[in-house]
Amino acid sequence: MSLLDWFEQRRKLKLLTAPKYKHPDSDKSEGLWVRCDGCGSILYVKHLKNRHRICEQCDWHLEMSSTDRIEHLIDAGTWKPLNDHITSCDPLEFVDQQAYKDRLEEARSRTGLVDAVQTGVGNLYGIPVALGAMDFQFMGGSMGSVVGEKLTRLIEYATDHSLPVIIVCASGGARMQEGILSLMQMAKISAALQIHQVQNHLPYISILTFPTTGGVTASFAMLGDVIIAEPKALIAFAGRRVIEQTIKQQLPADFQTAEYLLSHGLLDLIIPRDILKEGLAEILELYQKAPYKKHFLQ
Ligand SMILES: [Zn+2]
Repeated sequence: MSLLDWFEQRRKLKLLTAPKYKHPDSDKSEGLWVRCDGCGSILYVKHLKNRHRICEQCDWHLEMSSTDRIEHLIDAGTWKPLNDHITSCDPLEFVDQQAYKDRLEEARSRTGLVDAVQTGVGNLYGIPVALGAMDFQFMGGSMGSVVGEKLTRLIEYATDHSLPVIIVCASGGARMQEGILSLMQMAKISAALQIHQVQNHLPYISILTFPTTGGVTASFAMLGDVIIAEPKALIAFAGRRVIEQTIKQQLPADFQTAEYLLSHGLLDLIIPRDILKEGLAEILELYQKAPYKKHFLQ
């Protein structure tokens, strides 16, 4: 058996027997190696963390937890979480193969999070910002009433305190276990953004990471004054197979990638993760000076 086969066998066994993500406070001896989704290389987790979870072989941007994201973008010691007590009350008492309440409980104990987004305020190279970071490990980053409410309150807080909003998207879309209540969040967040951006002339920057799909793409992900994506991020509304079957055509290989969307005018920038914080600081500094806006508002 080759070394790669051994790793693959271990990986499969682990997927069958244990949760694949561990909260930072849990047992540190587990999960020392991961396989890159881009090139298949086996990567040492500790080195990967130092490289902001970018593969050293192929520059693939591996999934990043919301906690790592906050640590990466916000200056140390300045993060103040907002509304971290809000939890879902399972309004539809939804049950599929498993009760929604049990799924929530499992996701909470596995990730150490309350729901699929962390929101709060902090400094980015000294510039105060309101940041929302979604977490794909919590039920696929799905947007239910808690994600919608936390993001809306974040935006409203930012409007009241004249802060720029940054939202890092990582989501499979609306949370089906909350049905129409999940879909309502799209309109609620968009309405809060309208007040923030249009009525108060305050900036909102959206960052699209692998994957940003469904109702998240169809609402706040695409409403940024500046829309940034990470390289090769999957950004979509409906899935490729659904579209191909509907229009009865084969789609290009790079369809729904950040690069494809940029070339078709749907994004403003693709910024690699290792210089993302610097890029955001440059954009925010430009907004801070904003000579035209100051003249316009006088
Ligand atoms: Zn790789």
